[in-house]
Amino acid sequence: MKRRDFLKKAGLGAAAVAATTVNAPAVIAQKTYRWKMVTTWPPKLPVLQEGCERLAQRVKEASGGRIQIQVFAGGELVPPLESFQAVSDGTVEVGSGASYYWAGKEPASQWFAAVPFGMNAQGLSAWFHGGDGLKLWEETYAPFNLIPRPGGSTGVQMGGWFNKKIDTIDDYKGLKMRIPGLGGKVVAKAGGTVVLLPGGEIFTSLERGVIDATEWVGPLHDLRMGFYQAAKYYYYPGWHEPGTYLEYFFNKKAYESLPKDLQHLLDVCCMENEHWVLSQFDARNGAALQELITKHKVPIVQFPDEVLNALRKMAVEVVEEEAAKSPMAKKVNESFKKFSKEVGTWGTISEQSYYNIIQPKYSLTG
Ligand code: CA
Repeated sequence: MKRRDFLKKAGLGAAAVAATTVNAPAVIAQKTYRWKMVTTWPPKLPVLQEGCERLAQRVKEASGGRIQIQVFAGGELVPPLESFQAVSDGTVEVGSGASYYWAGKEPASQWFAAVPFGMNAQGLSAWFHGGDGLKLWEETYAPFNLIPRPGGSTGVQMGGWFNKKIDTIDDYKGLKMRIPGLGGKVVAKAGGTVVLLPGGEIFTSLERGVIDATEWVGPLHDLRMGFYQAAKYYYYPGWHEPGTYLEYFFNKKAYESLPKDLQHLLDVCCMENEHWVLSQFDARNGAALQELITKHKVPIVQFPDEVLNALRKMAVEVVEEEAAKSPMAKKVNESFKKFSKEVGTWGTISEQSYYNIIQPKYSLTG
């Protein structure tokens, strides 16, 4: 039998041969996207920078190598607070930080990270994924050619390290404290002096009395900074950052240049990392708190109710002042307040009442 006859008899005509040759290049020619990510975090910072590197690894594995993201810590490629602009300009494709860093570009961005006395991690997650929080975040970042994705939460932060006791709201008068953002504006309203310091200078400033107090993150990161060696009291709760959300942001053009399956894959990996980040904070903060209490004998002190109530009143004023700064901030603030009220009412009879029941078992005094 001649070869041509054999092909005909086997039903493999010219069409089948052609189909094989047409399909093969389509499989081979899948494009590889080589991206760069710039973060606002120092190299090797647990959970935060670690989480960005984890995200890049997951994306690479899940996409079978079709998206490869090279991660740069703050300062390695661009200065930490230039990452937003670098991604906006398309110099790099991805960034990570906390959206309150971009208050100077658009005041509305602050609500997606932390509002003093505002929603916690669970509330913010509900607002992003169950309410219109993420939609509003996308709208806020659209003029900057950016697409934001929630990057997980720190959970409720600690109130900070103090060398002076806070018994009444008047104790804030003249208090020199390193506390950025909206929380800093509240402390200033209470009569404190807000000092801005880069991370590397906080410990020495506290030790030498240049500042009386500082906030940072929570037990895991604060232990690593050694603040227990420079301050007398560790206050809680972190009313100023009740569940600070981190973020990933993509250059819009780069994101939209991806085929739909890869866009979806990026979203899924971001959301999986979002969950990982909060779980890491909760688990590792728990262990670090135990070390601070048992090994370093740190006095853990709760802000008195009277102080918290006074700070809360000032925080409401600060938030409204910020909301008046742009139409977008006003819109975001309205959504945030409406959602907080609904979720808060439900939270009072669900989460809060449950915490109240189990709280004595886990109290610091045993
Ligand atoms: Ca903080």
